[in-house]
Amino acid sequence: MKTVDHYAGIDIGATNIKYGLFDSTGKIIYRDQKPALVEKGATPLLHLVTNIGENLLLRAAEEEMNVRWLGVGSPGIINNVTGEVAGACPNIPGWVGIKIGSHLKEYLNLPIYVDNDANAMALAELRFGAGKRFSSAVCITVGTGIGGGIIIDKNLWRGSNFSAGEIGHIVIKYDGKECRCGNRGCLEAYCASQAIIDRTKDKMKNGLTPIFEEVLSGDIQNLNIKKLFMAARKGDELALEVIEETGEILGAGLSGIINLLNPEAIIFGGGIVDGGAGFVEATGAAIRKRAFPMAAENLRILKAELGNDAGFIGAGLLGEYKSRK
Ligand SMILES: [Zn+2]
Repeated sequence: MKTVDHYAGIDIGATNIKYGLFDSTGKIIYRDQKPALVEKGATPLLHLVTNIGENLLLRAAEEEMNVRWLGVGSPGIINNVTGEVAGACPNIPGWVGIKIGSHLKEYLNLPIYVDNDANAMALAELRFGAGKRFSSAVCITVGTGIGGGIIIDKNLWRGSNFSAGEIGHIVIKYDGKECRCGNRGCLEAYCASQAIIDRTKDKMKNGLTPIFEEVLSGDIQNLNIKKLFMAARKGDELALEVIEETGEILGAGLSGIINLLNPEAIIFGGGIVDGGAGFVEATGAAIRKRAFPMAAENLRILKAELGNDAGFIGAGLLGEYKSRK
């Protein structure tokens, strides 16, 4: 009988750390999460991740699982050869420069693989989720930020210096809004959650619509992305307009990616996508309108299937998708 391999993965997020164990069929054996408490600083976060890794491996050993390495997904640009956070990580103060890989290897004494969280999500969807029928796909996560993972020939395209897939920082307006990366006019400055909330507030500066009045208990300060989608699902015209508009902008930006790579599929995940209310449909329609007809003709526009588990699943798989460097 063929032995089933087991995998251990950790997905570091600015809010929560999600982690778990699964097997080579994609069956999840254990999953849990802990608050990341990033405000405490980078060193406590690294210790927390180490502790989580230790407990995961202990659990795997107790249940006699065959785990050969530990994989970790993290925000930011990750040097996946050294396992170091190399740059671009505004949501976790002090995280740039942290050597996740060598620290964990010293304490846990087994191979450690570290990569960007959106790259990990892309691998998970490729293996077990919406991408499993495809050899090329672009995965986009839309939430607090906009991240991306590019799959070419069933492997990650990491770029020449680890920074491929930063789709949120494609410039769609050369003199546009300031982005937290320091540049202007990035897609993220228009389509990530804070930008969407700001635009909604702006549209209601002369008063709330009846549905928002109810959803926000009369106070615009209660507006967040979940409430916006709630209003849209209740049929609020203004909320639907904001979502439609966001889809238009995002689709315009992403049509460039489709023209560039002509992938088989584009897969959407992340908090905003889970909100429903026609967001993916609006984005997909804009992509089809804007991209070259040949590039969009066979393009599949899909929602991610693995939800919150994608990050740790993809991290766990990293040992099978090593860098070609
Ligand atoms: Zn930017």
